[in-house]
Amino acid sequence: MTKRTDIWDVIVVGAGPAGSIAALMAARRGLKTLLVDRAQFPRTKVCGSCLNEGLLELLRGIGLDAASQFPTAPTLKQATFNLNGRAISFPLPGGIALSREAFDHWLVQECIRSSVDFLPETSARIGPCTDETRSVILIQGGAPNGVVHHARTVVCATGLTSSAIDGIIWKSPRWRKNRIGIGAVLDEDFIDLDRHEIFLNVRKWGYAGLVRLEDNRIDFAAAVDPQFIRRCGSPNKSLARMIEGVGRRVNMPPEFQFRGTPPLTRHARQVGLPRLFLVGDAAGYAEPFTGEGMHWAVLSSAIASDLVAQCATGDDPIKLARQWQALWKASLGGRWKRCLFISQVLRFPRTLGALSGMIPAPDKLKQTLASSFSGQGNR
Ligand SMILES: Cc1cc2nc3c(=O)[nH]c(=O)nc-3n(C[C@H](O)[C@H](O)[C@H](O)COP(=O)(O)OP(=O)(O)OC[C@H]3O[C@@H](n4cnc5c(N)ncnc54)[C@H](O)[C@@H]3O)c2cc1C
Repeated sequence: MTKRTDIWDVIVVGAGPAGSIAALMAARRGLKTLLVDRAQFPRTKVCGSCLNEGLLELLRGIGLDAASQFPTAPTLKQATFNLNGRAISFPLPGGIALSREAFDHWLVQECIRSSVDFLPETSARIGPCTDETRSVILIQGGAPNGVVHHARTVVCATGLTSSAIDGIIWKSPRWRKNRIGIGAVLDEDFIDLDRHEIFLNVRKWGYAGLVRLEDNRIDFAAAVDPQFIRRCGSPNKSLARMIEGVGRRVNMPPEFQFRGTPPLTRHARQVGLPRLFLVGDAAGYAEPFTGEGMHWAVLSSAIASDLVAQCATGDDPIKLARQWQALWKASLGGRWKRCLFISQVLRFPRTLGALSGMIPAPDKLKQTLASSFSGQGNR
């Protein structure tokens, strides 16, 4: 293995929203920052692609106006749930639908503009910590050997994959099966869907969401029991099952490709280690029903940015790791638990569907759902 002496102030592994914002905020403080991702950009990702109002506001505070940057991205005005055959609609206070190809690529370009060094198609493995630095092994383009880099601070923003690092202990809920994510981008005439609507079909097997993207294509994303997909036998049959009975005109595509994710719900027992900060989904994620994952991802990086900078400029790495652990729990742990609770309640869509017709104050329920979807309900 070739050794190099490059010492970075910050290396960020993973260029999703969490990683890009961590890198951008470090570079803006004048820190020498490297951002790496194993994918070539633009890249797609299983996601409902809804940027809620909380996320848009947070990004504006960082000087990034997603709605102006992507004027054709539909604004989200209404959510419709089909709870086991019973429909509930409520207005949304804002948010936009934007493909992850476009959103994540834009954030990476903003990093590059702010002097972040970006390496795509580079797989990273986070190594041990010494007194002064932590090592990161970078492997490019399927090369047999990696190159060792060193950084005063490493940010792990690898999403739901944990392959970048050993020794992290993950906790997942045990009392219900852990669902996986699947998704596809489908042609614009796949289903009748208003340009400003989020549609969610909630059933025993999980739930599937649909929105129109900036180019009118339809983003399909679902959280499902893995056995359901196996039982269906083929992507086409799974897709057909996930949208059957929704009362809308559907044009099944002759062929398409599903992408999948690992099990969705888990969190790291330790999100802060000496000279290492876990952010975004890498720190913890719960099922995506309320579509807040990108908001949390960006928020975690924004909150961690002071500690990341202090670590890069010589503050005690053990103390900072403990501080990040406490800060993550205080700012994001509660949201994670709330989302986990909602995902468990959704395991009973038949009961929920029946209850929705009997609840005396459905407006209150709709308000609660609307504020969760807008990212305002958890401040
Ligand atoms: C079905 C579904 C629907 C969803 N819907 C929504 C929604 O509508 N709205 C919303 O806000 N959120 C939604 N989410 C959640 C959202 O997708 C995630 O929370 C968000 O992408 C997390 O961002 P991140 O930056 O932490 O990770 P990611 O976006 O997953 O980025 C991680 C990056 O790390 C890279 N990487 C991984 N390992 C390595 C390695 N070893 N070396 C180098 N690079 C590496 C990957 O290539 C990837 O680019 C949904 C999720 C699912 C599964």
